[in-house]
Amino acid sequence: MAKLKCDPFSGGEPLPPGSTIGIIGGGQLGRMIAIAARQMGYRVAVLDPDPDSPGAQVADRVVEASYNDRDGARDLARISDVMTYEFENVDADAVEAAMEITPLFPSGSVLRTTQNRVLEKAALKRHGLPAADYRAIESEAQYLAALSEIGGPWVLKTATSGYDGKGQRVIREPDGGKAYRELKDHSPALILERFVPFRLELSVVCARDRSGKMLTFPASENIHTDGVLDTSIVPARVEPRVAERAADLARSVAEAIDVTGLIAVEMFLTGDDELLINELAPRPHNSGHYTIDACRTSQFEQLARVLCGLPMGSVEMARPAVMVNLLGDVWTETGGKPDWAAALAVPGTSLHLYGKGEARPGRKMGHITALADTVEIALDGATLARDLAWRRRSARAGTPVL
Ligand code: AMP
Repeated sequence: MAKLKCDPFSGGEPLPPGSTIGIIGGGQLGRMIAIAARQMGYRVAVLDPDPDSPGAQVADRVVEASYNDRDGARDLARISDVMTYEFENVDADAVEAAMEITPLFPSGSVLRTTQNRVLEKAALKRHGLPAADYRAIESEAQYLAALSEIGGPWVLKTATSGYDGKGQRVIREPDGGKAYRELKDHSPALILERFVPFRLELSVVCARDRSGKMLTFPASENIHTDGVLDTSIVPARVEPRVAERAADLARSVAEAIDVTGLIAVEMFLTGDDELLINELAPRPHNSGHYTIDACRTSQFEQLARVLCGLPMGSVEMARPAVMVNLLGDVWTETGGKPDWAAALAVPGTSLHLYGKGEARPGRKMGHITALADTVEIALDGATLARDLAWRRRSARAGTPVL
């Protein structure tokens, strides 16, 4: 396909529908970006090693290549008019190779910063943005010194390739180097952070267009289980000034690291109502999936609009929403047959499945969103719907469902 000459990023015309958005990564995020883009009449090309990946299933074209394959990234660039990536553990060199051919957002420098926890924390510090005290760790001696410099308890994390709580150890007492020795084989570069005794976790997805205009989606209150997001409650059950401060922080991050596209900012709220930034993700975020059903514009459509140089859409939320993730356990514990009819009989719920072939415990397979007049009713609805699908007794509703 001939490359379109218009460039929405130099103040020119938006990319017209029919143009191709290239996505590096064909997981669920790539799939949901693709669905939003196709709804607006754009074509989608996905790079993924699996020709039947969730993203590939809904794409016009698929480049079968690994995420660190520079030639693959260039092939994707040649058939795309604009590009993005759906997760930050893609190879930054491959992304920069693609950027030489086709505009790609968020930029390679945003990717390099956010794919390394040490660089990410250093950027936050440089810009005066609040985060837990930390030290970069590259040796056992540095680890032992950092344990005495930062007050405990602590969390030791791999600097790169960590997500969903993987590659992390909580350390309650000085351990003589044990946690360091356990993690150093995963990654020689580690980060030791103070463990934050948070009251709750919040996240805000901020969209920023090429002109620097920003819109933030309502803050989500997030509950994690074993380091993996389980439930997102929106609006977060915090005072309006806390939600406003969270939105301010997300905008400050987007400006500080110069994001074009989306940035998801995860934060801790402490007992003293202090917000500390935990992690950044330069892409749609699991805690923003509620926007598909609850907001005038979803996070995925917003990204597609920014990529194509279109005006951003309203982030207004119609009703309170709760999203619960569906992990592979829902399949493995029901003999591969979750009861979707029972789940969807719960008023106000919608089901999103990602088309993944194999259900493994802990694997994100889909989510359910419930909308209601209050977050409490939405929380009951989403939780009950998942329990019904799971064919298990609902803890929240207190009724046996088998
Ligand atoms: P992460 O992969 O950094 O997002 O961490 C996954 C989850 O681990 C977070 O959502 C928190 O629940 C927990 N966690 C990570 N870092 C810390 C910290 N410094 N203090 C307390 N809990 C943490």
